[in-house]
Amino acid sequence: MEVNKICQFCGNRFVAKKTTTKCCSDDCAKKFYKKRKRDEKIQASDKDLEVQIKGYDIEEIQKKDYLSIKEIMLLLNISRTSIYRMLKDGRLSKLEGFKSIRIRKVDLDTL
Ligand SMILES: [Zn+2]
Repeated sequence: MEVNKICQFCGNRFVAKKTTTKCCSDDCAKKFYKKRKRDEKIQASDKDLEVQIKGYDIEEIQKKDYLSIKEIMLLLNISRTSIYRMLKDGRLSKLEGFKSIRIRKVDLDTL
């Protein structure tokens, strides 16, 4: 049996003998396998983050007057990078006198 397939690793068209074949060559198959393992690892670390986030209580955060970057990330569901961008362009201002960055919650409400 011959099947026309596209290599999952390099994207080349090739003819496979089995429908389960994913790559055009052994070399691609090895690299594809490695890449998949790496992707799995990345997904696993994303899960770690999720677990960390679940440890936070959103209601508790909403009661606070001053928030940390992480708390804002959770509350607004935005990335750390966008918070830093807002700090940079002045849409958010950080409070002085704290060990780490603190932002007033009222400032978030005006966003
Ligand atoms: Zn290939």
